[in-house]
Amino acid sequence: MPSYIAPVDDMMFLFEKLRDNKNYNELEKYKDVSPELVKDILEEAAKINQNLILPLAKAGDENPAILENGVVRTPPGYKEAYQKYIEDGWTSLSCDPKYGGQGMPRTVSAFFDEMISSASLAFKLYSELTLGAYNCIHHHATDEIKNKYLPKMVEGKWSGTMCLTEPVCGTDLGLLKTKAIEQPDGTYKITGQKIFITSGDHDLTENIIHLVIARATDSPKGTKGISLFLVPKFIVKEDGTVGSRNGISTGSIETKMGIKGSATCVLNFDEATGIMIGPKNKGLSQMFTMMNLERIVVGIQGLGISEIAYQNSLNYAKERKQGKSNNNKSESGKADSIIEHADIRKTLLNMKSIIEGERALCFWLSQQTEVSLNHDDQKIKQEALDMVSLMTPVVKSLFSDLGMEITSDAMQIFGGYGYTKDQGIEQLYRDNRITPIYEGTNSVQAADLVFRKLSTKNGNIVDKFMNLIKSETNSDDEKMKPFVDTLNYNLGILKKFSDWTIDKIKTNKDDVSAAANDYLKTLGYISLAFSWVKVLTVSFKDFEENKKFHEDKINTAKFYFEKVLPRAEQHYKSAISGSSNIMNFKFN
Ligand SMILES: Cc1cc2nc3c(=O)[nH]c(=O)nc-3n(C[C@H](O)[C@H](O)[C@H](O)COP(=O)(O)OP(=O)(O)OC[C@H]3O[C@@H](n4cnc5c(N)ncnc54)[C@H](O)[C@@H]3O)c2cc1C
Repeated sequence: MPSYIAPVDDMMFLFEKLRDNKNYNELEKYKDVSPELVKDILEEAAKINQNLILPLAKAGDENPAILENGVVRTPPGYKEAYQKYIEDGWTSLSCDPKYGGQGMPRTVSAFFDEMISSASLAFKLYSELTLGAYNCIHHHATDEIKNKYLPKMVEGKWSGTMCLTEPVCGTDLGLLKTKAIEQPDGTYKITGQKIFITSGDHDLTENIIHLVIARATDSPKGTKGISLFLVPKFIVKEDGTVGSRNGISTGSIETKMGIKGSATCVLNFDEATGIMIGPKNKGLSQMFTMMNLERIVVGIQGLGISEIAYQNSLNYAKERKQGKSNNNKSESGKADSIIEHADIRKTLLNMKSIIEGERALCFWLSQQTEVSLNHDDQKIKQEALDMVSLMTPVVKSLFSDLGMEITSDAMQIFGGYGYTKDQGIEQLYRDNRITPIYEGTNSVQAADLVFRKLSTKNGNIVDKFMNLIKSETNSDDEKMKPFVDTLNYNLGILKKFSDWTIDKIKTNKDDVSAAANDYLKTLGYISLAFSWVKVLTVSFKDFEENKKFHEDKINTAKFYFEKVLPRAEQHYKSAISGSSNIMNFKFN
């Protein structure tokens, strides 16, 4: 089983040293969230993830969730762990105190999301969609519905799902067939089949609150006729207690490559009673409230799995002795630890520089998210929202794709022992493989970025992002100069790539579609470089305070700039060759 030590020191470094952001500092509600409080939370979070949740990863992989006589049973140990998990209040960390939450900012809950993704993604998923559903209800439902449903969800006694996918509609939700028929009392009868529903049924909670998209009988075809419905597994009575079973049954659960402990269900809705949330036919935009926050969390899942893959690779590379390094002149034939080999060192640094850059970028994005949701000044709120909207597909796709690179490299470092099941490394690769697929595939994220995020009614968001980077990384410090110069050189590439893309949107959309993944990667790698420059500013300034820590940061950043960041330009060069060969190619 892989081992895991939560990276609390790195998280606290970000919280203490990179928190100083003017707009974020103005948020009244987080003024009392002190580093001391956050340290206490992270240390407790580390304990539950390292001790209680980590062992569930192997248990769930070996004993997947099953459907037995119409009832979904979670893997051994899940029920007891979930009970402790909710008793300790982890489901309520970032929720509104009005509904029983602890009101912590995303700067803190994102750290928790990372830790639990490292420990067991399959277990995490049972509460993850509850938070997604909570966010959606919190934003769009009436007070009556919020008061009735949210406290139990925040407490973790009821869980939530997101029911979009159907056999005929995955990416293209406009094709959905699930019907909603209005009843005289204002409720709806929902009929149809939803597939691939994460935590669609299970034995961990008293009730499951499904958020379902469906088409009312008098609604138009396509995405303009989709409405959102709250459909509980058990009808909730007036007094808030759980009543009779609603018309929902579990048809089957999927047999999967990874995250086997998570029940991915086919749900049949047969005249199930549902309540419409928000205005009719606006269901998709309401669901996007949930999906956008969720997409960032999926990126964090990739980061968490990358971290545990890195930690175990590092430990193994120190222990495993094979071959002589170039500097080993011993005649005895004594082998060195594989960490002495340049290629292994490079792989480890590749992992480390990406992971720490991602964590820092995520921290910055969490601040932007809080400003976009809570700032009093509408202009500042909108500017932050633009940044969140630009970075959401980047974090979702880049982190999950790099999670594949890192878990694959981890298997490589373990050699044959990585491919066999003994060490649990291949499970990390299998578990991470879903992250580039669900919550909108990575290709669809890239298309969203190039076609909808570059040029918007609020202007060119990438230009605004580049201006923000320049203003936040401007430095007179000589030591910073090589990093800032390289970053600026890459911003020049991003500018050329953005102009090329915006131009091609008008003249050749296939060129843009073919370049979309490359554009996302270029923007992503440059965003990580931006985060590294922010980290470096602190590390050079505070060097004497903690030499070992800051020297490590400076050298890791150096690796990132020399060996990883050049990928940004490679993606640009590949993309601008266009798509004519791709589109004219005759597949046999
Ligand atoms: C384990 C698991 C858990 C899931 N959990 C949930 C859940 O809780 N709720 C839920 O509703 N769904 C869930 N899903 C469904 C998931 O979100 C979909 O599988 C995903 O959105 C892709 O849809 P699809 O499988 O139908 O693929 P398709 O939409 O058929 O796509 C197939 C391929 O075509 C590409 N493609 C499609 N359209 C375009 C386009 N316009 N441009 C370029 N490329 C395109 C895609 O990128 C993909 O590579 C889950 C799936 C799995 C496997």
